Amino acid sequence: MSTGFFTDERCFWHGGGNYVLTAPAGGLVQPGGGLPENPETKRRLRNLIEVTGLAQVMESRSAAEATREDLLRVHPASYLDTFKAASDAGGGELGLRTPFGRGGYEIAALSAGLTKAAIFDVLSGQVQNSYALSRPPGHHALPDWPNGFCLFNNIAIGIRAAQAAGLVRRVAVVDWDVHHGNGTEAIFWTDPEVLTISLHQEWNYPLDTGAANARGEGKGHGFNINLPLPPGTGHASYLETLERIVLPALRRFAPELIVVACGYDASAFDPLGRMVATTETFRQMTRAMMRAADELCGGRLVLVHEGGYSEMHVPFCGHAVLEELTGSAIRAPDPLGAALEARQPGAEWQAHLSAYIDRLAAYFL
Ligand code: ZN
Repeated sequence: MSTGFFTDERCFWHGGGNYVLTAPAGGLVQPGGGLPENPETKRRLRNLIEVTGLAQVMESRSAAEATREDLLRVHPASYLDTFKAASDAGGGELGLRTPFGRGGYEIAALSAGLTKAAIFDVLSGQVQNSYALSRPPGHHALPDWPNGFCLFNNIAIGIRAAQAAGLVRRVAVVDWDVHHGNGTEAIFWTDPEVLTISLHQEWNYPLDTGAANARGEGKGHGFNINLPLPPGTGHASYLETLERIVLPALRRFAPELIVVACGYDASAFDPLGRMVATTETFRQMTRAMMRAADELCGGRLVLVHEGGYSEMHVPFCGHAVLEELTGSAIRAPDPLGAALEARQPGAEWQAHLSAYIDRLAAYFL
């Protein structure tokens, strides 16, 4: 069975705002540079898979924009109307660091539509697994407040649409973007049918969410798992966290589909993270998720591109992920791989991280 690859050039046309990294330009902040969430990292991944030929072994396609009905399952009408009006009027900023230009509403709906299609095609058996290379990203988006470059919560919209169509009931979301998936957590906070698991750097964005003791409420209690990891967490500890906590939690939940919020900002070269993950980390995390999906839900696995801001490194990490998803022998060796492997935690720090993961495992399992 094949791998579906969902993308659209229009997603790379989303943008807006006059930022320098995440600071608004002006005053003493010289304009230039722009937001880190710009088209370049994602476009370079698309270009790399075309250059190596990996694109040719996938079913590449676009998708329709998510409909208003789709969006309304997650976002209130008041937010949709305000966003659409601002988008039609030339763009703006409705939350925190989520500027958009004219037509930004339609591009955000397309990003959600690509995620929805990636989920639908796996659930209908057209492809074994799939990857959505879309933007704007989604995992920070709250129902009525865009933040962290995210305008619509793509994954939540896709899951709710699939549930409404009767295609799936129990879904697990594993979010390994370096930032806490606060939007996804909030949307499924009281829902026992969607297990949300977020691995993230502690005390990174957003500063006020992501603690381990935030476990959901009501019927949803126990169906939200936050795994805050210290800055300087690397390859071995990411895999250890998956093996020790995420995989047992998935087995206990028994999902019918696994969706990964696949950010690449845990890379050691990322300007918005302080972790030391390598290309191999992303490859092996993907392998672990494929193993879990094979064991638990007939291999049904969807990866949705979220953050990741190193223009050089994201394409190689993404290529490794897609090599695993497709099972292709095509390779794109990471030119910085050896340097990264040399920057992994030393024995003393690694022992500290392992002890920390032990404590997290004892808390959750
Ligand atoms: Zn992120």
